[in-house]
Amino acid sequence: MTHHILIAGGGIGGMAAALALVDRGHDVDVYEQAPELKEFGAGVQISPNGTRALHALGVLEALQKLSCNTEGKEVRLWNTGRTWKLFDLGTEAIERYGFPYITVFRPDLLQVLVDAVRARKPDAIHLGRRATGVMQRDGRAILRFDGGKTVAGDAVIGADGVHSVIRHELFGGDSPRFFGMIAWRGVIPIERVPPHISRDKATNWIGVGGHVVHYPLRAGRLMNFVGIQERRDWQVESWTMQGTAQECANDHTGWHPDVQALIAAAPSLFKWALMGRDPLPQWTRANVTLLGDACHPTLPMLAQGAVMAIEDAVILGRCFDKYGDAATALSRYQDARIAVTTRRVAGASDNAGRFHNPALGSEDGAAAYVDREWSREAIIRRYEWIFTYNVDEVEI
Ligand SMILES: Cc1cc2nc3c(=O)[nH]c(=O)nc-3n(C[C@H](O)[C@H](O)[C@H](O)COP(=O)(O)OP(=O)(O)OC[C@H]3O[C@@H](n4cnc5c(N)ncnc54)[C@H](O)[C@@H]3O)c2cc1C
Repeated sequence: MTHHILIAGGGIGGMAAALALVDRGHDVDVYEQAPELKEFGAGVQISPNGTRALHALGVLEALQKLSCNTEGKEVRLWNTGRTWKLFDLGTEAIERYGFPYITVFRPDLLQVLVDAVRARKPDAIHLGRRATGVMQRDGRAILRFDGGKTVAGDAVIGADGVHSVIRHELFGGDSPRFFGMIAWRGVIPIERVPPHISRDKATNWIGVGGHVVHYPLRAGRLMNFVGIQERRDWQVESWTMQGTAQECANDHTGWHPDVQALIAAAPSLFKWALMGRDPLPQWTRANVTLLGDACHPTLPMLAQGAVMAIEDAVILGRCFDKYGDAATALSRYQDARIAVTTRRVAGASDNAGRFHNPALGSEDGAAAYVDREWSREAIIRRYEWIFTYNVDEVEI
């Protein structure tokens, strides 16, 4: 049985869901508020459970041409630059999990998904359409837009991100808690990166009150920079808030010259205040559900937000395959996903205290800390349960 499914939000989650559903013969319409499809220029790490999900959607191979496999990972100490080569799940990911760990430029990921959706339904994506609410009547789900127009379908998926209006309409407002940290982001053309800074590895700089991550994107043509620093005076959660290089450098005072060099090389820098939210106990009401950041927003410290949205999409598609009735499919999708996503969101919060730690104030403290937290056993304990998650086999 096929359905007409309406998706509010054309980000990574919304497009992945559209692809999973259109591929199974459903009629899908995606409504994106932005006037053009444009992802924010930033990197995203996709762990093997996520690349498995992209493979299930049929887009991994296209994306791999534009991405980088993480060939290795190193940890560096924030002030001295002391380097520890890590046991790295990235290098043995294919052998161990069947799928690689890749780093991707967000616009490339979105474009690959959009191309695949349009190849199956050329007019599936509607731009400049901001959803303002949802209603249910006589077994139909009705999406309402700015200006008062409505569209009815068999189901509505709210994939409208962390500030979701669909979530607000279904379950009321949330209460974000500021985590006391901001994330600085920049993407640097590789020719501007000083040659002695590792260009082919993911590097995690760890410090007392902050951490910095950088890794290559786009087959090594770009370097992604993320600096997360404890700071309480700025609380806007947005992809588009620009800061200055001076402000970013001030937030990294005392950090190693390599970190300063990356900040100076970034053509522009953006800042995002990190907010925590309690997990929702429920995502679905009859023929309406949520997906991605709309239902399980997370801190970025486990690099699982986009991955979870892509997995949601595959499981949602499988539930529509298995259950003819839309409301049953949406309810089974929620049941299959809620516990695992809640656990990952908690894991991301735990990592906040792992990357920033008072023990990192001295070389000796740091050495003991790295031995304890980044040993083979510790890494496997933290990540194995995530990387082995298999969207094709999860019971639905
Ligand atoms: C600094 C940082 C680093 C990160 N790094 C990683 C990483 O390495 N790996 C990883 O897996 N995740 C990472 N994430 C998380 C990841 O970016 C998100 O989890 C992911 O973008 C969620 O996708 P989404 O489609 O659910 O939401 P979004 O990406 O927010 O997309 C929502 C879409 O809905 C549209 N929209 C919003 N409201 C409406 C409306 N009312 N009507 C119509 N359209 C609407 C928006 O314009 C947007 O296009 C990171 C996040 C941050 C902040």
